[in-house]
This record gives sequence, structure tokens and C-alpha cells, in this order.
Amino acid sequence: MRPNRQELIEMLSLKKKDEIEALYKRAYEVKKQYVGTKVYLRGLIELSNICTRNCYYCGIRKDNHLLERYYIDKEEVLKEARWCFEQHYGSLTIQTGERSDKSWIDYIEELIKEIKTLTDGKMGITLSLGEQSEETYLRWFEAGAHRYLLRIETSNPELYKSLHPAENSFENRLQCIRSLKKIGYQVGSGVMIGLPNQTVEDLADDILFFYDEDIDMIGMGPFIPHHQTPLAYLLSTFHPEEALEQALKMIAATRIALKDVNIASTTALQALHPKGRELGLLAGANVLMPNITDTRFREGYQLYEGKPGLNENALAIRKALEESIYSIGESIGYDEWGDSPHFKNKKNTPSENL
Ligand code: SAH
Repeated sequence: MRPNRQELIEMLSLKKKDEIEALYKRAYEVKKQYVGTKVYLRGLIELSNICTRNCYYCGIRKDNHLLERYYIDKEEVLKEARWCFEQHYGSLTIQTGERSDKSWIDYIEELIKEIKTLTDGKMGITLSLGEQSEETYLRWFEAGAHRYLLRIETSNPELYKSLHPAENSFENRLQCIRSLKKIGYQVGSGVMIGLPNQTVEDLADDILFFYDEDIDMIGMGPFIPHHQTPLAYLLSTFHPEEALEQALKMIAATRIALKDVNIASTTALQALHPKGRELGLLAGANVLMPNITDTRFREGYQLYEGKPGLNENALAIRKALEESIYSIGESIGYDEWGDSPHFKNKKNTPSENL
């Protein structure tokens, strides 16, 4: 049943601490019932910060000339993928700035094929490489990627317009999400929470958008201003505690409304609070994306201010993650792709087969 908009607005508008706690508890019960308390891990490789776009909020936007640009070569990516596999993560995510030139498309295709070969077809591959043509999405799918993350950023077309240059239309992004779905990817989407001029009504509509577009996995996080972007002026009025609370309420409301989807507890939550990831899990999230990119590249992939784990190597992150997951009484789905029950329930295609 389509979630009730008014109820969503009420959940997202809660102000009293005890009522907010009760909301998280309710979301946690729904999570236990529909997806359980096993956390799925996706090793995250931030493959490149080279970007052709100029999103007003993003630290790696094209016009940020203060940034040294990098991309990771094949040998190194395969080393990281092998490490991820040996850690039993089961699944990895490749994320980058946006590029659509032929050599880039070819490179990604080659990487997907080689990672598949390297791991005997066992490693699940998720891509997060922005807007591409349907043909490109299809090539990467056929090469072996099976999940794709493309946040709609906000489901309000007017708000979207205020955050992007005119050539990057809301309609095209939506079309991309639909193409991905048509091709057969498990599709992840999401929004930033706390954008300038975003209302609780917008956030409620975001959840309805996920429902209407039949999204399988959700990655949402607080918007955090970055000083080398046009939205840097928002830094002086930014309140980390409020941003965190609104993001956690959004996770909880999404879990309550959508039930069987995968929801990521994102790094941006941890940027606002040392225990942000755990708080996300307790508010209804069930996926974590530990960064496995070599630390020497991390400085270059600062999408927002204060991104954590700059110097933490992948092994240290893994240990800390395990401890934090166990500390809240949850377990880890090692060696599993961890597809969302939402996806499994509607498809008969074999995907989970490690
Ligand atoms: N280029 C790819 C993926 C990289 S950016 C794409 O467009 O999909 C990944 C996500 O980081 C974006 O979708 C956006 O939601 C988030 N992001 C960017 N800048 C941010 C900021 N200042 N605060 C919080 N999240 C941000």
C-alpha cells in the first residue's frame, strides 16, 4: 500500500526527544521483522574524483580547481577488490565523479570483467558512476555489474533545479533511474537531507518517490556544506546535531514506510557523530559501505566537509565496524551479496548464490 503522506510528514516533524526515540524503536521493529539484524557490507572504492559536472553542493565538482584530480589504475583496483573479497565482504561498490568519454566507459567495463574473473564470479559489483546513456548502462550490466546507485538528490524538481546547472535536468536523472531498472539492475537511489529550502513535505515526497519508482535500496545522508562550493555560505549556520537528527528520522520513516528495502547507514552520518553509523542502524538502516580505497587517495574525495576516515586504513575500518556492529547486538552477512528482500520478492532471477 502506498504510504500515507500525512503520516510521513508527522514522523518527520517530531520534535520531542521521547517521541523521536519511539520512532527509531518502531523503525527498528519493522527492520527486524522484514530484513533482520544482519548487516551487509559493501567495500567502497572511490575510483576517481574527476568530474564533468558542477553540482552546487559537491566538493569534487568540476570547477573546484583547488582539488588535485586522481584516478586509480587497474592494478591497484584489482588489488583492492581482491582484498575486499578476502575480507569476505561479498560485494563491492565503485563510485566516481561523472565521466562519459569512451576511454572511461571502456575502462569501467574492463574493470568489472576482471573483478568478476578474479573472484570467480562471486563478488557482487555495485556501480555509482552517475548519469550515462542506456547503452553504457547495458554494457556494464552485461560485463557483470548488477546493482547501480543513482541518487535523485531530491524528488522536488524545482529544488533540484536550484542545486544544479541548467544542463543537468531532473528529467534526465529520472530517466536514468528508469533505464537502469529496465535493464535489470537492482536500483538504489536516495536524497540529501537538510538541503537549503527543503521542507518536511519534500522529504515525505522523497519517500513516496522511492515507493512509486519501486526502488530496491536507499542511500540517504545529511547534506553537509563544503567550503569550496557555491553553497559554502551555509557552513556558518550548519548545525550537525540537527542535521543528524533529521537524517535519522528520515531513515526511520523510510524503513517504516517501505519495510523490505535495503537502507544504507552512510558515511555522512559518521561525519556528524562518531557513532553515526550505529545510530543509523538503530534507526532502521541495514547496509554499511566501508571505504577500502587506499588512504593516499582519500584527501581527494571530500564530497563534503569533515569526511571521516581520512587516514584510517581499510583493515582498521573493518575492525572498528565489526566492533560497532557487534556492540549493538547485530551480526554481519559475510560472503553474501545481501540483496534486498524487496528485490528478491519481485524477481525470480538467480542473484544470491555465493
Ligand atoms: N557522481 C556520482 C556519484 C558520486 S557523488 C553521481 O552523481 O551519482 C555521491 C553522492 O554524494 C551524491 O549523489 C550526493 O548525494 C552526495 N553528496 C555530494 N555532495 C554532498 C554534500 N555536500 N553533502 C552530503 N552529500 C553530498
